[in-house]
Amino acid sequence: VINDIRVGYGYDVHQFAEGRRLMLGGIEIPWHAGLLGHSDADVLLHAINDALLGALALGDIGTHFPDTDEKWRGADSTKLLNSSFDLIKRRGYRVQNLDATVVAERPKLKPFIPEMQDMIGRLLEIEPDRVSVKATTSEKMGFIGRNEGIAAMAVILLVK
Ligand SMILES: [Zn+2]
Repeated sequence: VINDIRVGYGYDVHQFAEGRRLMLGGIEIPWHAGLLGHSDADVLLHAINDALLGALALGDIGTHFPDTDEKWRGADSTKLLNSSFDLIKRRGYRVQNLDATVVAERPKLKPFIPEMQDMIGRLLEIEPDRVSVKATTSEKMGFIGRNEGIAAMAVILLVK
């Protein structure tokens, strides 16, 4: 019997900036540009973080980790995710599975997906086969198609 299940959804986007490290799903991807943001701008972990918070109607990443707070400048997004995951655990929930999509024209992300699944699984205390990370492009259309940035979406299921 499933007493309480909650679904959460998250979306995030960041623009590229030359000379920054490209962090995605908690791992560094070798690339000449990274994403611009107050933290390390890990767009995938941010979407997952928003999905986690959203599942329990706890607001969003912007309210928990405001970009006006110096504390979060250059912050490691794995630490932000840990902090949100703690809130979920304290309320008696765990993650059943998650499904995420990263939309990027370049670089090609497929080779890095297993490593991202391992990392996200470790962060959320689930096996990597419960972590789906998909990568797609924007078919050269729009801001993603012009290589101006990367977007990510995530859906997460929590069970009590
Ligand atoms: Zn973000």
